[in-house]
Amino acid sequence: MRFINAARTPIRALLFSLIAAVAVPLGANEFNLPSLGDTSSSIMSREQEYQLGRAWLAMLRGSVRTLEDPLLKDYVESHVFTLAETSQLDDRRLTFVTIDSPQLNAFAAPGGIIGVNGGLFLHAQTEAEFASVMAHELAHLSQRHFARGLQHQQQNRIPLMTAMLASIILAASGGGDAGIAALASTQAAAIQEQRRFSRQNEQEADRIGLLNLKQAGYDPHAMPEMFERLARLSRFSRTPPEFLLTHPVSQSRIADSRNRAGQLSNDGRRDSLYYQMMRARVQLFYEDSPGLAAQRFRALLDQHEGEHAAARYGLALALIRSGQQAAAGEQLAVLLAEHPDNIAVQLAQVELDGSQNRLDPALARLDELLRIQPDNYPLLEAKANLLLRKQDYRGAEKITDQLARLRNEDPDIWYLVSEVRGLAGNILGVHQARAEYFMLAGDLDQADQQLDQALKRAGDNFVISSRIKARKDEVARRREILRSF
Ligand SMILES: [Zn+2]
Repeated sequence: MRFINAARTPIRALLFSLIAAVAVPLGANEFNLPSLGDTSSSIMSREQEYQLGRAWLAMLRGSVRTLEDPLLKDYVESHVFTLAETSQLDDRRLTFVTIDSPQLNAFAAPGGIIGVNGGLFLHAQTEAEFASVMAHELAHLSQRHFARGLQHQQQNRIPLMTAMLASIILAASGGGDAGIAALASTQAAAIQEQRRFSRQNEQEADRIGLLNLKQAGYDPHAMPEMFERLARLSRFSRTPPEFLLTHPVSQSRIADSRNRAGQLSNDGRRDSLYYQMMRARVQLFYEDSPGLAAQRFRALLDQHEGEHAAARYGLALALIRSGQQAAAGEQLAVLLAEHPDNIAVQLAQVELDGSQNRLDPALARLDELLRIQPDNYPLLEAKANLLLRKQDYRGAEKITDQLARLRNEDPDIWYLVSEVRGLAGNILGVHQARAEYFMLAGDLDQADQQLDQALKRAGDNFVISSRIKARKDEVARRREILRSF
């Protein structure tokens, strides 16, 4: 469905060229951020870290499958931004990637990158448990553990950085690619050396993450509980979850976080309905069929006496997707009456209407919601998709252009933009959107080719061709970063 087969990106070449980004000489950063005086900045400036992270993210995106669910992405982003507000993180230019894997994993990478597997939703039973993992990852970023890792072993900086980043890709891609596995094993020695230092980093991320969890209003006991869950997982499964490769959970680690949590008051939040609804979406996604999921959600609904809206929500979605529209409508009517302001519930009704070809009532519902939240990403994407079904390509193009302004680093959006522009007959715009997509997905050659096509189409329109040339310069700049090693 994508323009490129993501799995074929030459990881090895990219990883080696990434080293270049680490090796960009100091003072070469064009943004000239003031030095903050901390010693880690003398090894790698914040701007270098940022550039390295973005280059690496493009590579990651080229080699793993991602979840393209706007509600889920929107939840992860707003959840982590809320946590960041009360954290020590200065540079809040965060970028997110949600990975299509049922394995439990989450990671942070230099330059403000936060990755979350679908599997974290499956395993973290409450929002506070989910938040405890996110708070831990944010602490790796706020304490600049990557830059400090480099400082710790300067002479080893290249294999170390490559090893750290390679191991994340290895884990994220499920370890299935023999090429990546081979590369990672050559880095095993570097990882081994790095282990002692990283244990200190892990302790620090636990301590700071726990305080952040509390400050963000969650019950700090969720962190030791999450660790215990991880320890049980590793005890009872043949292959331990990916997260444990980088985050070994020892009894002392559990005890340490339990002691520290015990010193804090436990009056914080534990859960939210919205988190449980996002979990239901992920559970449905990884279930073998919507029919089976419907059975499971119905059983859950029957068991529960008290809070059951999330099971009802999962059931409604499963019913829609297994073709039981009337039954879905009954469940959604209950949810809409109880939770009229819940966007996930409203969008489920839009999905139901859409599945019955009731496009006008669905659009009217979205417009009503967009009056209150005009920039809401899941609402806008749903509207663009409905307009496409009504063959209103110009209308859809207006919406997707708005989304591209709001989320200009999201490859899913640029992919949608290029499709919509194609249907609207805007061929020049297709090439521009594809170029943005390829830049974000780590394929600079294809991006450059798309820009050349766009330039031909632009003819003698000076404004548009100078805009395209500026993007070609940006492609060249990124290529230079990768090549300068
Ligand atoms: Zn960690």
